[in-house]
Amino acid sequence: MKKFLVVDDEVLIRKSLVRAFGASGFQCDEAENGMQALDKISKNDYRAVLLDVIMPEKNGYEVLLEMKKKTPVFVISAFTGDDTNIGYIQNDPRVVEYITKPFDDIFAIVKLVVSRTI
Ligand SMILES: [Mg+2]
Repeated sequence: MKKFLVVDDEVLIRKSLVRAFGASGFQCDEAENGMQALDKISKNDYRAVLLDVIMPEKNGYEVLLEMKKKTPVFVISAFTGDDTNIGYIQNDPRVVEYITKPFDDIFAIVKLVVSRTI
């Protein structure tokens, strides 16, 4: 079974997603910045990537720009209406869904990501 990749620089968010996937029977790798994410994406075939936007060492937009694979991406961020970069990710065909932080129900997020990917 393919693993998921959780990318977020906030350790509590990253760990709680990884734990929720694990409790639901799914394995995850994790990355704490954009550079780590790109490295892991290039070396692994993930079922999907959960990608934070605001991160050190390359942000989520840069990860999307630089990743070569067609791996499905779920963007996780606290979006604001005046975000000038949002147009770019809205046009990236790999982006399946936007998940807004903070999370109401982390297991609902697991269900969503699992149900929208193979
Ligand atoms: Mg962040």
